[in-house]
Amino acid sequence: MPRPRKHRFVSEKPRATYYKPRGIPLAALEEVVLTVDELEALRLADHIGFSQVQTAKRLGISQPTLHRILRSARSKVADALANGKSLRIEGGTYTLPSKRYFECFRCHHHWDEPFGTGRPQHCPQCQSPDLHRLAHTRHNPTP
Ligand SMILES: [Zn+2]
Repeated sequence: MPRPRKHRFVSEKPRATYYKPRGIPLAALEEVVLTVDELEALRLADHIGFSQVQTAKRLGISQPTLHRILRSARSKVADALANGKSLRIEGGTYTLPSKRYFECFRCHHHWDEPFGTGRPQHCPQCQSPDLHRLAHTRHNPTP
């Protein structure tokens, strides 16, 4: 990261990180880069409909900072849509949750594991290998 900035809490990685308008040749295509924390601000405030107070709290930032992030994010998305540009989602200063959540299909036990420890092989309760990862906020998380 080029500057030391406070990390914003993002609930999970974006499901898709590139949007391209149909029918525009690659050579003529301009790109807008939306950061991951900008997308999370849009998702919380404009998609879920949280108030700016709630959104700032979820991201762990002040309201003036949120206001600035939202302005920037909305302006970038509007630029891409209005001018037929592609949208790349990457970068920004953010922190993802430190835990992953799993559920056992056999006994329905729920538990969490820290990131970076690999996928668990067995349910800690019944030892069944038949388990899956849960997204605590949404389905279909990015692996
Ligand atoms: Zn189990």
